[in-house]
Amino acid sequence: MTFTKESIKQEVHDKGVEFIRLEFTDMLGDTKNVELPIEELESVLENEAMFDSSSISGFSDIQESDMYLYPDLSTFKVLPSTVDEDPVARFICDIYTTDGTPFEGDPRYILKRAMKEAAEMGYTVNVGPEPEFFLFKLNDEGYPIKKMNDRGGYFDASPIDKGDKVRRDIVRTLKKFGFEMEASHHEVAMGQHEINFRFDDMLRAADNIQTFKSVVKDVATNHDYHATFMPKPIAGENGSGMHCHLSLFKDGESVFCDEKDEDGISVTMKHFMGGILKHAPGIAAITNPNVNSYKRLVPGYEAPVSIAWSHSNRSCMIRVPSTRGKGTRFEVRNPDPTANPYLALAVTIQAGLEGIRNKVDPGAAETRNLYEVHDDSVPTLPTNLKEALTALRKDKVLMNALGDHTSSIYLEEKEEEWTEYSLQVSQWETDKYMNK
Ligand code: GLN
Ligand code: MG
Ligand code: MG
Ligand code: MG
Repeated sequence: MTFTKESIKQEVHDKGVEFIRLEFTDMLGDTKNVELPIEELESVLENEAMFDSSSISGFSDIQESDMYLYPDLSTFKVLPSTVDEDPVARFICDIYTTDGTPFEGDPRYILKRAMKEAAEMGYTVNVGPEPEFFLFKLNDEGYPIKKMNDRGGYFDASPIDKGDKVRRDIVRTLKKFGFEMEASHHEVAMGQHEINFRFDDMLRAADNIQTFKSVVKDVATNHDYHATFMPKPIAGENGSGMHCHLSLFKDGESVFCDEKDEDGISVTMKHFMGGILKHAPGIAAITNPNVNSYKRLVPGYEAPVSIAWSHSNRSCMIRVPSTRGKGTRFEVRNPDPTANPYLALAVTIQAGLEGIRNKVDPGAAETRNLYEVHDDSVPTLPTNLKEALTALRKDKVLMNALGDHTSSIYLEEKEEEWTEYSLQVSQWETDKYMNK
């Protein structure tokens, strides 16, 4: 959608908008916002909205804490009433410093840099994300308890599926945001759901993931449920992933399909996959960003464990669906929905571009069920956050993709998180070892 300052002012007037919500994403992937009364619209549109960034993660260690929010006019939206009953309009913003330059720690800027690199090589990257989530019940005080909203399983129907009305409300709301909605269904685990929306270019896809997550949370709250994107909320059940389907275009044509190849996929696609597989251990530190992420990446729950690609095998990190022609793409299966989508796409795409530049061979397609391969013939994803962080620190391509500012703060904060976790003694350990 293209908006001009004038068309925005007109819509705001016609719809009686009273507040403007300026949104951005912090380093850890949380949406942050500040709200201004409508009288400030003029100054917001002139990029004059200033804020104190000193308590925002990933912004904090800078001397200059005053920052500006530049609204991306194309993200203007009057919020649907399922999200807010009041007349509120939102913008997703870019962060600028006081000297008028983009803030190097703004995740959206980091993704824009990756997008620019792709563009310089002639490519547009399309991303189709599939974030999964759980619905949990609330206690009397409105806080989530460890009980899922239903006992349903994959594709179950009502009344076993008690999430259908919530999912429909989410679909309705996202349509009002301009999303092109696809299928939605109950997922494998009890209380687990998936709702699909159409792919978009990498920046829009990341913006869409953030909008999707807040709509899911808002609508779930309206139904007295708590929605969580935590990767592995329940031991012994499937976790929640955020598979990302990637495809590359040049001058509007897919550079992934090649009718002459026996698999119908191009050398460019193989190299792009090769780059992502080569950098996978470090990428995981961003796409699987917390301690709990690694409890999902274990054999037996449809989540990947191996750094390999295949045509239909879900134990591999990359799967190539059978669609060819314009729809030729691959699905990266390791990301989870707690990842900061801007940073996750930035490192993944930069790794893929490096693969194209250096013609990185992804090897042959894997045909074995890798959950059952226990030798070291296939490399595996990191088994915990610490391993992933160590791999990230050593990976120059990824560190460059993040930039000095974000890479150093990210590693520092995440290593602290790991240390904090390491100091805990879990119930499992007490049960297991108390009689020793
Ligand atoms: N929930 C699985 C995961 O963790 C994926 C299940 C599926 O979509 N087939 O990635
Ligand atoms: Mg899916
Ligand atoms: Mg799924
Ligand atoms: Mg999928």
